[in-house]
Amino acid sequence: MRIRVSGTHFPLETLGPGRRLGIWLQGCPLACPGCMSRHTWDAESGESVDVEALLELWRSALGRGAAGMTVSGGEPLAQPAALAELLRGAARLRTAWTRPGTTDDGLPADLLVYTGYEESELDTSRRTALASADAVVTGRFRVAEPTGLVWRGSANQRLTPRTGLGRVRYAPHLDREADGPAVQIVVESAQASDGPAGPLSVRLLGVPRRGELLYFERWLRERGLRLRERSWRP
Ligand code: SF4
Repeated sequence: MRIRVSGTHFPLETLGPGRRLGIWLQGCPLACPGCMSRHTWDAESGESVDVEALLELWRSALGRGAAGMTVSGGEPLAQPAALAELLRGAARLRTAWTRPGTTDDGLPADLLVYTGYEESELDTSRRTALASADAVVTGRFRVAEPTGLVWRGSANQRLTPRTGLGRVRYAPHLDREADGPAVQIVVESAQASDGPAGPLSVRLLGVPRRGELLYFERWLRERGLRLRERSWRP
C-alpha cells in the first residue's frame, strides 16, 4: 500500500521518550492557525512511498536501538488505511527487532501517533487506524493556549495511552513539564554529488515553545543568514 510522506528522521529525540524513528505524513485538512508545518498541508505534495519502505526504516532504527516510532504530520488520520498498515507492521516487527537493554525501562519500542482530531472525533475508521498505537496525542494546535507539558503544543492537547505498554511507558510523562530541549535542528544540503552547492534546508523537529520560532529567525538574521521560506508563515 502507498502512503504519502513529508519526511522521516532517526534519531528523533523531541517527540516522545528516547531516541525514535520520526515519520511525518503529508496532507492535513485541519489548518490550525499558527501551525508550524504548513508545508505538510497539501495532500498532493511530499513523496508517495510504499508502507514497506517505512517498515524497512523501522527495522533499521530498531537495530540501532530505537525506543519507539512517532508518527506525526500533517494529519496521519487523513490516510487511515495506510496508517493502520504501517502501525500493524511496526507492532509486528518490534517484537523481533527490539534490541534487549536499549530502552531505559527495558520495555519494547512503542508507537506514538499525533493527530489534530479530538478524542470525540475518532470515528470507527479512525479508531481502527489507531488500533496498534500505544499512545496518541489528540487535539488541534491552539496558538492562544500555550503549555509547558512535554511533547504537546497547546494546553488542550491530550496524551492518552491506549495499550498496556503505552500505559507503563507514558505514565511518568502525562503531566510532566518539559525540562529539556523542545526542538531538534537538522540541517540538510540540497547539493548534488558533483554539482554546485544548493540552498540549505533546516528542519525543526519537535514542539517549539512560544516565541522560539521568532527567536530562531532573529538569531539567524543576526548572523547574516536569511530564510527564504518558512513553513510557519502563510
Ligand atoms: S498543527 Fe497539526 S493538525 Fe493543525 S494544521 Fe498543523 S499539521 Fe494539521
